[in-house]
Amino acid sequence: MKLTWEVTRLNLAHTWTIARGSSDYKENVIVQLEHQGITGYGEAAPNVRYNETPDSTIEVLEQSIPLLEGADPWRYVDLGQSIQQLAEGQTAAKAALDIALMDWVAKALKVPYYRFLGLDPATAPITTYSIGLATPEKIAEKVRGAADFPFLKVKASGDRDEEVIGAVRSVTDKPLLVDANEGWHDREEALEKIGWLQSEGVTVMEQPMPAAQLDDIRWLRERVDIPLIADESVKTARDIPALASAFDGINIKVMKSGGLQEALRMVWLARALGMQVMLGCMVETSIAVSAAACLSPLADYADLDGNLLIANDPFEGVQVNHGQLVLNERPGIGVKRRKSQ
Ligand code: MG
Repeated sequence: MKLTWEVTRLNLAHTWTIARGSSDYKENVIVQLEHQGITGYGEAAPNVRYNETPDSTIEVLEQSIPLLEGADPWRYVDLGQSIQQLAEGQTAAKAALDIALMDWVAKALKVPYYRFLGLDPATAPITTYSIGLATPEKIAEKVRGAADFPFLKVKASGDRDEEVIGAVRSVTDKPLLVDANEGWHDREEALEKIGWLQSEGVTVMEQPMPAAQLDDIRWLRERVDIPLIADESVKTARDIPALASAFDGINIKVMKSGGLQEALRMVWLARALGMQVMLGCMVETSIAVSAAACLSPLADYADLDGNLLIANDPFEGVQVNHGQLVLNERPGIGVKRRKSQ
């Protein structure tokens, strides 16, 4: 198999601000895996939270070349395991390789990847749409722009929470998912915040406290009524058993898991432990979002809007209709390159 890659600068439709910082653009690495005239597409969205950069991603891709040369893509399970062992961490690079591999396999079989998995696209969930932090006026404008989406995701913002929620509520009474991105360090404060958010129509809460404060999160879970979903606390299946007593569910992202095969294992392990499943994403093009969307019939919640936040997505794939994820009939993960940008 022949591997090639390109670093792509993705311009964000709105400046993206969360608890950790702001950005106007994102650099992701698009990969192509060619074999017997079929090309599988993959993508890495490197995340500084996990010590990943485009350069560290490319290092792993370079290391994978000897592994892929002469490898048999039909042995994708073995190959997937070898990819996972290429480096410590660097799951975005591994995700790019695994997505491209599974895209190749489903394309070679001439079926959509969700069909290969035996899933019904009609049962794909709605996706939330993320409202990034901004001034109250801007937030109200973004909420109006998201009129089509029945479920919105809002980033918590420390001392500005009342202003932010107030701005959202000045426009709509839709249910909200709030993501604190590990922003609260005091459990009493987190408890108070969540109680208030619940009274404001928040129905799901993501990563209220830092991953390192698992005991505090367990304490919190015993006292709140809405589901707590782990995000920064969970990367791969190995992390899940320890979280079962502290969280109600997990947010699976292919960039954290290192690809689709591990994401699937995570779905089944979470289910076995009685946990809910959310499928999330980073700022990603239609490649990685469409790949994750193929798994979405297995999820309780989807937060797969990363491609919608990009102004110059070089690919098209999964569509969204009134918030509903619409999987297409294309073989593989269902993407094709746009003719012009
Ligand atoms: Mg999150």
